Amino acid sequence: MGEPEHVRSTYNDIHNIIRGTSDKIASEFKPDMFIAIGGGGFFPARVLRTFLKDPSTKTNIPIQAIGLSLYESLPGTTVEQLNGEVVRTQWLEPDPGKRLLGRRALIVDEVDDTRKTLQYALNELQKDVEAELQLLPESERDSKRTKFAVFVVHNKLKPKLGKLPPNIPYFAGAEVEDVWLDYPWEVIDIEEHDRLAKEDKERKNITVEEH
Ligand code: 5GP
Repeated sequence: MGEPEHVRSTYNDIHNIIRGTSDKIASEFKPDMFIAIGGGGFFPARVLRTFLKDPSTKTNIPIQAIGLSLYESLPGTTVEQLNGEVVRTQWLEPDPGKRLLGRRALIVDEVDDTRKTLQYALNELQKDVEAELQLLPESERDSKRTKFAVFVVHNKLKPKLGKLPPNIPYFAGAEVEDVWLDYPWEVIDIEEHDRLAKEDKERKNITVEEH
């Protein structure tokens, strides 16, 4: 099997993609909490917070962090293995359910590839909420049940192995082919990364003109 095509994104590319989706997220979901999936969801969550800041109250949306990894990408790991494939490396602690109750929580990641990570994150967070709801009188449960939505910078257009329920709002900043995306926070030499990203874009423009 050959190497998949790599596509480089710059910090500015990502910033502008997030900016382009922020109005939709603000008007259609209005999150009051972000749950960033580390490490790729951290930078997008922080940037999105800038665009969703309430100008009248100047309040910032809090960012909580969880860490998840596909098991096969963690050789020799000793961390707890769950679901056979996704492992937790960090979770909302203490009292995850309590932190979530009554909130509008937006789960943020950089890329939706097979969707296994997003499915796992949503399922586990919903389980925490349901466990907490059991401690409340039945009449209060529905109003306190956390509303979840998902935001990813890039969604790869491919058959997904993981599923998200249709009632969960889903926002993707950009839809991309099934390529491998190189993110700026993964590289050491950012100037070289940006230079290559610019070259890639120029080459693509030339190719488009040639056809
Ligand atoms: P999924 O569970 O959707 O298959 O993948 C989730 C995780 O795999 C992402 O959060 C990310 O860490 C990693 N991943 C998947 N595709 C890519 C990619 O194209 N580029 C990079 N850098 N990471 C990816």
